[in-house]
Amino acid sequence: MISSYTKELVEKSSEIRKMFEEGKKLAEKIGKENVFDFSLGNPSVAPPAKVGEAIKDIIDKEAPGFVHGYMANAGHPQVREAIADDLNKRFGTDFDGTDLIMTVGAAGGLNIMMRTLLDPGDEVIVFAPFFGEYRNYIRNFGGNIVVVPADFEDLKLNLKALPDLISEKTKAVIINNPNNPSGVVYGEEEIKELGSILSSAEERIGHPIYVISDEPYRELVYDGVTVPFVTKCIKNSIVAYSYSKSLSLPGERIGYVAIPKQIDDHDAVRDGAIAANRVLGFVNAPSLMQLAIQECIGEKTDVEAYDRNRKLLYNGLVDIGFECIKPQGAFYILLKSPDKDEKVFTETAKNHGILTVAGTSFGCPGFVRIAYCVSEDTIRRALPGFKEVALELGVKKD
Ligand code: PLP
Repeated sequence: MISSYTKELVEKSSEIRKMFEEGKKLAEKIGKENVFDFSLGNPSVAPPAKVGEAIKDIIDKEAPGFVHGYMANAGHPQVREAIADDLNKRFGTDFDGTDLIMTVGAAGGLNIMMRTLLDPGDEVIVFAPFFGEYRNYIRNFGGNIVVVPADFEDLKLNLKALPDLISEKTKAVIINNPNNPSGVVYGEEEIKELGSILSSAEERIGHPIYVISDEPYRELVYDGVTVPFVTKCIKNSIVAYSYSKSLSLPGERIGYVAIPKQIDDHDAVRDGAIAANRVLGFVNAPSLMQLAIQECIGEKTDVEAYDRNRKLLYNGLVDIGFECIKPQGAFYILLKSPDKDEKVFTETAKNHGILTVAGTSFGCPGFVRIAYCVSEDTIRRALPGFKEVALELGVKKD
């Protein structure tokens, strides 16, 4: 018999995953070429060639026990140092290797941070719209999620609504920049303002509130937009990074957390996170991938390909008459459902072979997420289907 907790987990399985599975079934029924799967954030761009070359090279040069053996739970020291140096060069930070912990993707990083910071009943604040898996990452450790409602004006951080939601139980705030599902990039001013609201609250409640900035999309930005480096703006902040999207390696499960020396209780937090990496069963991030990452520092994905998709899809949807948030980063578009119940949109779209994800799973009801990390051809061939959906739902172009 499984636990009631797990039973509920299975029953409420991720909407994104559900759509992905439905897509496979739909492909069997109407043919793969007639299914336009915009449900999953699986990069369509191949990893840079250097990744494969580095892996081959590492295997060829393998010294016994070096590549495939156990290591420190925080990861290979020389890899952490190389990443710290790169961050310092790019962002003017002062990390050293011991401030970094290699993790099993951003998901692994966020989970070890939640394990480190939360006692049962503690609260973690997230800003809607947010990556739905945060609910589980927080609940895994008996924490409670507290959602700051979205500011639909521009979907930036809704800082006006924040102060009333901070309590003595608040231990952390998770932000995601650039944002999945909105594609919005939070700017330096609002990040700094978030920091100042939190530091006043810390004085009031008598303990730190750590901002965990989840940044798998850091390098995926358009129109010259830049993502501020959170540790330069907020004292008690930690970065959870991943190479899943920036190097197209989601299946390889590799990322890191960067814990700057400036945070309160730095050593305790860092040592706690290393212990959490061990006891949660990650033990250490995949060794071969860590070593490959060291060789691939400075490698970039083809951001222009995502940008072409962004323009094609955004302009196409707006031309049809849909209201969309113009993304500045990541590879998602939020579309405002013409019907208040966005399930009406997702179901109608499914009838045309188009798979999208309901915004409710991102704390953003009334919206639909469309992932454009697909081929350009998929977008071109799907646009007539979107037009049919618009006609069926009575969307008129102004
Ligand atoms: N955070 C956000 C906002 C994401 O979109 C994702 C994956 O799509 C993750 C975390 C998990 O990333 P990873 O594959 O690195 O665990």
